[in-house]
Amino acid sequence: MNGCVFCRIVAGKEPARIVYEDDRILAFEDIRPQGPDHTLVIPKRHVATLAELRSEDAPLIGEMVLAASRIAAEKGIAARGFRLVANCNRDGGQTIYHLHLHLIGGRAMGWPPG
Ligand code: AMP
Ligand code: ZN
Repeated sequence: MNGCVFCRIVAGKEPARIVYEDDRILAFEDIRPQGPDHTLVIPKRHVATLAELRSEDAPLIGEMVLAASRIAAEKGIAARGFRLVANCNRDGGQTIYHLHLHLIGGRAMGWPPG
């Protein structure tokens, strides 16, 4: 999508530190990490928010969660634990309107989130 920074990363027009890629999913390091490990997992197709997912997107979101879990294992943070979160729309704190899962680990998380 024109003007979408994550679509530009998918297209190779914006630099990113890629940690995983397949036909439908891309994962790369967050530019402003909120912990020792902070990876973003995105669909290559532009989907703006979680609220826009349709029932036929169930395999896609499933693959994104599985990719995040595998990346956590590869980074060695799965056993200690991690947080997987998607901010949706204004109250959810979403700032980039291309669906993404935040995989954050390497430190203990607080609850409730801010
Ligand atoms: P959210 O607030 O949930 O929409 O999260 C957007 C995330 O994207 C933030 O954690 C940003 O630090 C991150 N971000 C923004 N631009 C880039 C970029 N060019 N490369 C990597 N991460 C980015
Ligand atoms: Zn996009």
